[in-house]
Amino acid sequence: MEPILELKHIFYAYHTPDGETRALEDISFSVREGEFIAIVGPSGCGKSTLLHLIFGLLEPEQGQINIRGSSRKDSSVRIGYMLQKDELLNWRSVYHNILLGLEIQHRLNPRTRERAKELLKTYGLEQFASSRPSELSGGMRQRAALIRTLVLEPDILLLDEPFSALDYQTRLNTGNDIGQIIRKEKKTAILVTHDISEAVSLADRILVFSSRPAALSQTVTVSFASGETSPLRRRNDPEFKTWFNLIWKELNPDA
Ligand code: ADP
Repeated sequence: MEPILELKHIFYAYHTPDGETRALEDISFSVREGEFIAIVGPSGCGKSTLLHLIFGLLEPEQGQINIRGSSRKDSSVRIGYMLQKDELLNWRSVYHNILLGLEIQHRLNPRTRERAKELLKTYGLEQFASSRPSELSGGMRQRAALIRTLVLEPDILLLDEPFSALDYQTRLNTGNDIGQIIRKEKKTAILVTHDISEAVSLADRILVFSSRPAALSQTVTVSFASGETSPLRRRNDPEFKTWFNLIWKELNPDA
C-alpha cells in the first residue's frame, strides 16, 4: 500500500546573521496509514523542525515530502498539529474552544457541530462542555485540545511533546488517554518526544535521531510479544524494559 507520508533526502538549515544552523541532514522515511510513529532524539537536534516541514510552515532546502504519492504542496490531505501548550482560550467555553478551528476554516455546520458533541461525549468531557478551560485539570485540557484537532478530521496528526508541560502522574494518564483515542480514531500520528518511555508506550515504530544536525540513526519497530498497544499496559509488560534499553543505548552509544 502507498505510504500516507514519504520524506526523501530532506535537508534543512536555519540562516541567521550569526551564521548557519544545520538542523536536518538527509532524512528519509515513510509512514503507513494508521501508523503511530515516535521520533526521539536529544533536545535541539531538529525534531520540531521536521514537524514544521511536514506541516508546511517551512520548506525543505533539499529533498521531497510526498503525501499519498503527491508533492505536499499539491496534496489536499489535512494535517492536525498538537503542541506542548494546549492554547485553549479561557474566554470561550470548552465546547466553543473545540469549534474554533472549524469556525476559522468556515466548516461549522450541523454535521461538524454534532461530531464535536459526539467526541466530547465519547471522551468524557460532555459535562464540561460549558465550563471554562481553567476549570479543567491539565489532562482534561490536553484531551480537549486533542478533540479540537480531531474534529477537523485530520488525516495525519503531528504531536510535539504534547505531555511535557504536565506533572509526571498526569503525564502517564494523559499519554494513555491520548494514545488510546488516536488508536480508536485510527489516525496516523507522528509524536516528537525526548522521553523514551513515552515513545515505547505509544508507538508502532520509533525513529531515533542523532544530535544536531539530526540524521536518522536507527528505526525500531516496537512489537510486544503480547500484542499490547495500550500505553499503560505496555509500561507494565516485562518486555517494556528491553525496548527502553534498546532505544537508550542507541541514544547513548558511549554510556
Ligand atoms: P528539537 O525539536 O529537537 O528540540 P528544533 O527543531 O526546535 O529541535 O531546533 C533544532 C535546532 O535549530 C536548534 O539548535 C535550534 O536552536 C535551531 N533553531 C530552531 N528554530 C530556529 C530559528 N527560527 N532560527 C534559528 N535557529 C533555530
